[in-house]
Amino acid sequence: MHKINVKTPSRTAMIDITSKIQEVVRKEGKESGICHIFVPHTTAGLTINENADPDVVDDILKEINKIVPFDDGYKHCEGNSAAHIKASLFGFSQQVIVENNQLVLGRWQGIYFCEFDGPRNREVYVKIL
Ligand code: ZN
Repeated sequence: MHKINVKTPSRTAMIDITSKIQEVVRKEGKESGICHIFVPHTTAGLTINENADPDVVDDILKEINKIVPFDDGYKHCEGNSAAHIKASLFGFSQQVIVENNQLVLGRWQGIYFCEFDGPRNREVYVKIL
């Protein structure tokens, strides 16, 4: 298993980690398989979406912050319930096919680490099966 460090810049952010994951795939050297990516946190997640137009990421974050507001009379005393909810909506893992030692993604797709309670130093686990 490989661990990748991700330093997140703000309270909410989507960070394109595709090249970091591809680097793991390259180092591992497997021609064909499945790349399993996992976030071991409760207030951050993973998604795959467009990495061509950065406005898409801005729009996703703007809308998710409307759907799950930062303050809404939540009970959780740590004060970060919105981040826990957003993380569960996005999910904590992704799987991507590996062929020819390359991640198989659509032309416009990237793998994003989704921060909902930053800024923080985070980890991502990667296992090639
Ligand atoms: Zn909490």
